[in-house]
Amino acid sequence: MTCPRIEIDLTKIEENARTLVTLLSGRGIDVTGVTKATLGSPEVAKAMIAGGVVRLGDSRLENLEALRDAGIQAPLTLLRSPTPDQADRTVACASLSQVSERDVVEALSGAAGRRGVVHGLVLMVELGDLREGVLPENALDFARHISLTPHVALAGLGTNLACRAGVVPSADNMGELSALVNRLESELGQHLSLVSGGNSANLAWAIAAPAGRINDLRLGESILLGCDPLTRIPLNGLHADAFTLVVSVIESLAKPTAPRGATGEAAFGVPTQTGERGTIIQTIAAIGRQDVDPDGLAPPQGISVLAASSDHLVLESQHHLPPGTEIHFGLDYSALLRVMTSPFVATALFATTCLPTLIRPSPPPVPPPSPSPFATRP
Ligand SMILES: *Cc1c(COP(=O)(O)O)cnc(C)c1O
Repeated sequence: MTCPRIEIDLTKIEENARTLVTLLSGRGIDVTGVTKATLGSPEVAKAMIAGGVVRLGDSRLENLEALRDAGIQAPLTLLRSPTPDQADRTVACASLSQVSERDVVEALSGAAGRRGVVHGLVLMVELGDLREGVLPENALDFARHISLTPHVALAGLGTNLACRAGVVPSADNMGELSALVNRLESELGQHLSLVSGGNSANLAWAIAAPAGRINDLRLGESILLGCDPLTRIPLNGLHADAFTLVVSVIESLAKPTAPRGATGEAAFGVPTQTGERGTIIQTIAAIGRQDVDPDGLAPPQGISVLAASSDHLVLESQHHLPPGTEIHFGLDYSALLRVMTSPFVATALFATTCLPTLIRPSPPPVPPPSPSPFATRP
């Protein structure tokens, strides 16, 4: 098979989705499956739907359009505000958009009117992480404005934490969102059906604290990589190995560990200093920073990552590996994003046939051995 390639186990993604959907449904929270790390892969989306997510979300219009073009019927949410000039494309493929600017609301209203539809809006509220969203004190005015705008309907409120400043979703900030929803409902005399509390970083909160008014989480990383983004530790009961990067060796030679000659900056800034450890087997794999974040790679036993330039991944291996040897790596979110976005990496989708009974949806799962299903693995 061609290299480099990313192998995607759709069964593991489906099982991760099902495990999270089952867990959160007990707390009155639906799951929006987020596909952006796979560029809106229809197959990954179908695996998430099979696992029980109620809708799909993506931050990029192109990815949502790919899902629609593939015939996916599930409701779609645009997770990043469209630009005004994307309004027509947005209402054509998404049923909900997350918004925080009046000009964007106007543009979506116009586009929805032209298309003869009502477009749903989720008003994003900034609760401390300082990325998108209006300040809480401005939410009521904005919500009123939406209520008075034709062809759009305020579906509810949303917030996003942890992505920019690493602010942890907590009983405090989630309580603030619930209280804001209650206040807006009584001021507007309107029920807000969707309260989207955040992303995979909200899982620890969702398990530990009462959900309040939050009835939706937008989950990408936890479904795809089975880990908690706040700690990057695998979540118990989830597969952390649904994705594998396979790369070919192009050179494997005995070389000294320390460079020879005066050194300046390398291709990507100041290289990490290496002390002389004698001769090692230095192995080069045919992939580079253009295709992957080398810091996010988990190499197999006996292999370590020494450095990477645009097109060369420099490894240390215990043995000489002939050119053409395939090396399998695990990936973190950063590595996955770049791999999926590189046109030089092929995609190989497969489904494992035998499902571990442990995480099947029915009959109801036996209680896990650890008190919380989100306890970290030993
Ligand atoms: C990417 C994204 C998500 C999903 O985040 P994960 O950490 O992958 O679960 C949720 N909401 C928004 C607004 C996003 O951009």
